[in-house]
Amino acid sequence: MEDVIKRFIDKHRNLGYTRSEDASVSLIFHSKGNYMNLKVSGHKSGHLVLPGERLGVIEEFIPNSGTYVKDGVIYSKIVGRALMDLLSKRVSVYPLISGANVPTVSSTIIGQVGHAQSDNVLVRIFKLGSKNLSGVFTGVLHVSDVRERYVESMTEVCKPGDIMRAKVISNKNQVYHLSTNDKSLGVMYAFCSICASLLEPKRYEMHCPKCGNVEKRKLALDYGKEEI
Ligand SMILES: [Zn+2]
Repeated sequence: MEDVIKRFIDKHRNLGYTRSEDASVSLIFHSKGNYMNLKVSGHKSGHLVLPGERLGVIEEFIPNSGTYVKDGVIYSKIVGRALMDLLSKRVSVYPLISGANVPTVSSTIIGQVGHAQSDNVLVRIFKLGSKNLSGVFTGVLHVSDVRERYVESMTEVCKPGDIMRAKVISNKNQVYHLSTNDKSLGVMYAFCSICASLLEPKRYEMHCPKCGNVEKRKLALDYGKEEI
C-alpha cells in the first residue's frame, strides 16, 4: 500500500493539485452557482484554448464558430486554437484535431476530488478511459447522482484528495455532470482526512492503518487495484 501512495504522489506531482490548494479550485466556483473561468483574457491568436476558457467580451469581438457567450463574455466551446481576427473583429476556435481527447456524455473519467460541499463535489478530471488528458477539466458530482438509493451527504461518499472513477451524464452549460451510480464507479483511492494515509476497506467502513480513523466512502468495486 505504501508503494501505491508513493507511485501516486510521484506521478501526480505535476498536477499541481493537492489538499492545500483546494482554495484555488474554488475560484472557478461562481457565487451564483455557475462555473466560470476567472482567468483574465489576454490570449493572442493561435494560442491553445480549453473549453470554458475566456476569449474576450462582446464589446470587442463578434463570437464565431467554436465559441459561446455568457453574460457578455465569449468563451471557447472546444479544445483548439483561438483565431482572433482584428480586422473583422471575429473570434473563433478551430479544433486542434478531429476527435480531440475531451470528455463527452457517457465517457468514463478518472479524477481527483477537490472542493467539497454537503450536496456536491468538484472533480478534477485528468484521465479519460485509459488515456491521460492534455488539458484538465472540472466535473461536478451531485449527491443525487451518487447511487440509486438516497444519500444524505457527500461526506459519506468521498473527501478532497480522493481519486474516483465516474461517468459523464451531461455537459450542459459546459459543465461536466458526473455519476457514480454503478458498482464499477466510485472512489478508487481514499486518503485519511486526518493523516492522509491510504484507507483500507473493512466491512462497510474505511479504516486508517496509521491513526485508526474510521470514515465512509462510496467505493468502486476495484478499490485500490487500478494503476493510475
Ligand atoms: Zn489516518
